Amino acid sequence: MTKNVCTQCGYEHVVIHRKYNGQRLCSSCFKKSIEGKVLKTIKKQKLVTKGDKVLVGLSGGKDSVALLKILNILKEKRIIELEAVTIDEGIAGYREEGVRIAKDVAKELGVKHHIVSFADKYNFTIDKIMEAEQKEEHPQHACTYCGVFRRQIFNQMARDVKADKLATGHNLDDETQSILMNYLEGNVNNMVRIGYKTEARDKRFTQKIKPLREIPEKEIGLYVLESGFEVHFDGCPYAHESFRMEIGDFLRETTLKHPTIMYSTLNGFEKIKPAIKKDYMENFTGKPNKTCIKCGEPSSQEICKSCKFLEKIQNKIN
Ligand SMILES: [Zn+2]
Ligand SMILES: [Zn+2]
Repeated sequence: MTKNVCTQCGYEHVVIHRKYNGQRLCSSCFKKSIEGKVLKTIKKQKLVTKGDKVLVGLSGGKDSVALLKILNILKEKRIIELEAVTIDEGIAGYREEGVRIAKDVAKELGVKHHIVSFADKYNFTIDKIMEAEQKEEHPQHACTYCGVFRRQIFNQMARDVKADKLATGHNLDDETQSILMNYLEGNVNNMVRIGYKTEARDKRFTQKIKPLREIPEKEIGLYVLESGFEVHFDGCPYAHESFRMEIGDFLRETTLKHPTIMYSTLNGFEKIKPAIKKDYMENFTGKPNKTCIKCGEPSSQEICKSCKFLEKIQNKIN
């Protein structure tokens, strides 16, 4: 009895054995399966509507490359319009390669591509900030700055190009890590926001969608390789989220013995979310949507976080 043949088409060259459902797939059936799964998620969760302009956050890492390639199928069917934006935070020896791959992929797929650098927009780089931070007694993590400014750029760019949706490449591993981390930390505030899409609290924010949310990280890497694209494995030199990494290791290890564990974590969470949310919203007073007096961006306070950070940075690096 030959076992190692594609369970879909019988071809002998199998590239993956999915322990969670027993499938063995050849390269072509595997790629079709990933694309089919993602398109099904998009349809089922109503992540796009016909005529939407979708802006993809394209880091050049495997997740965003896979996302752009799959959304491009909808572009070619004239269901959506597609553009991509890459943010260059100024991290020497790391970001250059991502930017180069992002450019190549966007060009190959014929997707309009924008690159925004911290250096041009804010006149500093993450490297420069971190150099200054090292002199502090309690240095801030790079991610604190990066997160705030990246969010601002994504949001502004989405508005500038009149995007209806902002798509990011979060995968099954990322999502189950977030669920578990926030659960273990009792962070209900964050838990109610984990999902396929954000709910617009302010119409000046573009809705964010996560079409790869049901695809394991390992399969995304394989999909990018089998599609003939170059893989740039994200590994920021400033990455520090050690708790997330520990949870990630735990989930991957558990998956070896219990292959469906990430799916059950995700599906179970989706089932209990409405209950948590209802309770949470009943006790939620809601912050008024203000406008930052310095930059005019939406903010929960007089001066937004990114303007506060900008001021702090000017003092530090000058
Ligand atoms: Zn096959
Ligand atoms: Zn501001």
